[in-house]
Amino acid sequence: MRDDVLKAALASAQEPVPTMKRASRARRQDVSKRAAPDPFATLNPPMPAPSPRRSATPARLQRENAQDEIYERIYVAILEHRLHPGTKLAEERLAEIFGVSRARIREVLARLAHEQIVELYPQRGAFVAKPTIEQALDVFEARRLIEPAVLRRLVQTLTPEKLARLRQHQELEFDARRRDDKRAVIRLSGEFHSLAAELAGNTALARSMRELSVLTCLMIFLYDAPTTDSCRADEHTQIIDAIAKRDAARAERLMLEHLDHIETSMKLETATPEVDLETIFAG
Ligand SMILES: [Zn+2]
Repeated sequence: MRDDVLKAALASAQEPVPTMKRASRARRQDVSKRAAPDPFATLNPPMPAPSPRRSATPARLQRENAQDEIYERIYVAILEHRLHPGTKLAEERLAEIFGVSRARIREVLARLAHEQIVELYPQRGAFVAKPTIEQALDVFEARRLIEPAVLRRLVQTLTPEKLARLRQHQELEFDARRRDDKRAVIRLSGEFHSLAAELAGNTALARSMRELSVLTCLMIFLYDAPTTDSCRADEHTQIIDAIAKRDAARAERLMLEHLDHIETSMKLETATPEVDLETIFAG
C-alpha cells in the first residue's frame, strides 16, 4: 500500500544518523528564537521533539518547532531517496502520521514547494519534485557559477573552526561509506556542498546551494547510473586540502572537475528527448 510506503519512509527518518542542521534556514526562519546562532553548530543530532512543558513554552514556538521537525523529516527522507521523485505527499495521510492538522502540513508543503523540493498541483496535491533533464542541466550551470564563488569566500574567511567542521563532516561521510549506508552517503555528500556554502558565510549563496543540493539529489535518483557514486569522497578530501592550504584557485578548479564528474555520471544526454507530437503525426 502506498500509504504504508509513505509512513515507512518517514518513520525511518528518525534514525539517529547525525544530520546537518541548516543554520542559515534556522536564522531565516526564527531570528527571534536564537539570539546568536552558532555557525559551527550545524552538526547536531536530529531536532528534538518540542518540549512537553506546554505552560513553559509559548504555543506559537511549539507550533514552529513541530513544523520545523516535520519539515526536517520530509526533507531528509527525500534527500535519502526514501521518498522517491514523483511520490504523492497526501495531506491527510501526513497529518495522521505526524498527528497535526492538515493546515500545518499544508504550511510545510508550501515551504518545501518554495524550495522547489516539492511540486504543488491544483486539485491533485503535492508531489516530490521530479526535475526534468532541462532543469538538471540548469542546476549544473548554476552550481558551476556558485560553487567556485563559495570556495573563494570560504578560503578568504577560513578559520581553524571552519576547517574542523569540514573535516568532521568528511569523517561522517567516510563512516557512512564504511558502514555501506548508501542513504547516508547520498545525503552527507550532498550536504558537504551546502556546508561549504554555509561556512563561507553568505546566506544568499548558502540558501541557493542548499536548494541546488537537494535538486541534485533528486536528479541522481532519476538519472544516475546505478553503479556510480554521487560525490566521490576522495574528491571532497582534495577540495578540503586545497582550502586548508588557502589555495583558492586549486579549490575552485577541483570543484569544477568534481561537478563535471557528477554531471557525466548522470545519463542526461542519453535520456529520451521530449516527444514532439507534430513530428510524430506529420505525414
Ligand atoms: Zn560532492
